[in-house]
Amino acid sequence: MGGKVTLVGAGPGDPGLLTLKGRAALAGADVVVYDRLVSPAILAMIPPEACTIDVGKEASHHKVPQEQINRILLEEALAGHNVVRLKGGDPFVFGRGGEELEALAERGVPFEEIPGITSAIAAPAYGGIPVTHRDYCSSVHIITGHQRAGKPLTIDFEALVRTKGTLVFLMGVTAMPAIVEGLLEAGMDPDTPAAMVENGTTSTQRRCDATLATLPERAAAMGIHSPAIILVGQVCALAERFCWFDHLPLRGQRILVTRPRDRAGALSDRLRALGADVWEYPCIETRPIWPCPAMTAALEHLENYRWLVFTSPAGVAAFRRTLQEMKKDGRYLSGVQLAAIGSGTARALADMGLIADYVPPVYDAAHLGEGLPAEGKVLILRAEIGSPALTAALESRSIPYDDIPVYRTVYDNPRSEQLRAALEAGEVPFVTFTSASTVKGLLATVGADADLSRVTALCIGEQTATEARKHNMTIKIAAQATIDALVELTQDAASSLEYTFGGVML
Ligand code: SAH
Repeated sequence: MGGKVTLVGAGPGDPGLLTLKGRAALAGADVVVYDRLVSPAILAMIPPEACTIDVGKEASHHKVPQEQINRILLEEALAGHNVVRLKGGDPFVFGRGGEELEALAERGVPFEEIPGITSAIAAPAYGGIPVTHRDYCSSVHIITGHQRAGKPLTIDFEALVRTKGTLVFLMGVTAMPAIVEGLLEAGMDPDTPAAMVENGTTSTQRRCDATLATLPERAAAMGIHSPAIILVGQVCALAERFCWFDHLPLRGQRILVTRPRDRAGALSDRLRALGADVWEYPCIETRPIWPCPAMTAALEHLENYRWLVFTSPAGVAAFRRTLQEMKKDGRYLSGVQLAAIGSGTARALADMGLIADYVPPVYDAAHLGEGLPAEGKVLILRAEIGSPALTAALESRSIPYDDIPVYRTVYDNPRSEQLRAALEAGEVPFVTFTSASTVKGLLATVGADADLSRVTALCIGEQTATEARKHNMTIKIAAQATIDALVELTQDAASSLEYTFGGVML
C-alpha cells in the first residue's frame, strides 16, 4: 500500500490547541517528522511504536536543510509509510508547508494539510489582544520580520501604514528596532499602541506593552527573546483589560507532576488549564505481573470469596485482563461484592460496567480495612508491596483474606542531575505526589541525598505524606484523596506564595 504525507499544524504551544483532526492524524502515524516549536505535550501523543524524526534540532547551529526535509518526507512516503509532518502553528503561515508539498505533488505522492492555530492570532489572543475589533481596525496583516544577515528589510512600510490595520510580525525579534524605525519613517504615529508576546499560549508567556516609539526600549528591558510576535495597532491597548490568561490562578507556578509512566496526564491537564508551568516526570512504572496464576486460580474459585477488594486502577486493569482471558464478564461476578479504595479506583471499575459496593469515607488502606462491611472471605488484588494497614485492619477484625499481588512498581528511571539541581535551587517549588511510591520514585531519580528543603510536597493522602516526610520537604495534604482535592491544595499552596516570574511580578 502506498504511503501518504499529512502536514499537521500543532498550534502555537498550548497542547490543548491541537485540532481533533490533527490528533487523530498523529494517532495513526507510522513516522512523525517534527520541528523545534512543537510542544513536548504534543510530542507525547505520538504513538510509541511510531518512528520520530527531529528536523528542528540545531546540531552545531545547523538545522536540517529544507531540501533534506523534503527528501525525508518523500522517501518515507514512497516506502509506504503514513507520514505526519508536524509543524508549529499553521503549516501554511510562514511554515514552509507549501515548499514541502511541492516535491510530493511532483512525484504524485498523496498528501493532506490539517491547518493549525497560528501563533499570529493565538499569541495575541492569550495576551488579551484581539487582532481585529470593529472600533479600531478593519484589517489584520501578517508579515515576516525575518532579516537576512547584513541585508536590509524588504518590507513596504508605507503600504502597511496606509492600511491602518493591525500589524503582526513573525520572526521579527532581531529586526524589531529596524521594523519600528521603518514604520516611524513611513509616518506612523509614534504613540500607536504596540506589544510583543513571547512564548505565547505557554506557561512561560510574557507580554511587553508599549507604544511604537517605546517598544525597542521596553522589550530590551524585559529581555524578550524568540519565539515572540510583534503587534502594532490600536487593539494592543485592549491587552490590559482583556489579559485573561495572566489572571489564571496558577499562572506561572512551576509544578512537578510525578506519576506512573502509564497513567494519563489528567492532573497535568487540570493544572495547565489553571495556568501552571507543569513539568511532567513519570518517575515510577506499574508493571502487571503476567501471567498471574495466583489471580487466575482465585478467580476460578470465586465462590470462596464474598468480597473483591481493589486499591488502585492498576489492580483493576490487571483483574480486567485476567477476566477477559478467562472469557468471563460482569455476570460472573454476581456472587461477590466489590470494594474500591477511592473514587479513581471506583471509576476504573465503572469503566468495566461494575459498581463498587463499598468505598471508604476516607480514601486510604486503613479506612478500607476498618470499614469494609465484610462477612466471609476477602480477595485483595493489589500491588506486590501493598500497605500493611489494610491487612492489619482485617486481621484485627478476624476477617479472613487472600492478598494476591497482581502488579509491581518499578523504579528504573535514569538519574536526572538536571531535575535534582532545579529542585535544590528552588526552581520547582511544588511537587505533587499521588502515592507513596511516587515519592520513592522521585528520590530514586534525583538521589536519596538530594536537598529537598525548598520543595513543598503536595500529597494526595496521609500515607503519601508519611513517605514524603522522610525527605525534609514542606508537607501539605489534600483534604481528600482525589485529583480534585489535590488541584485545590495546589491552588491554596500557590496563593500563599509570593512568586516572581522572569523578574516580573505576576
Ligand atoms: N507556522 C508558524 C510560524 C512559524 S515562523 C505559525 O503559524 O505560528 C516562527 C515564528 O512564529 C517565530 O519567530 C515567532 O515570531 C512566531 N511564533 C511561533 N510560536 C510562537 C509563540 N508560541 N509565541 C510567540 N510567537 C511565536
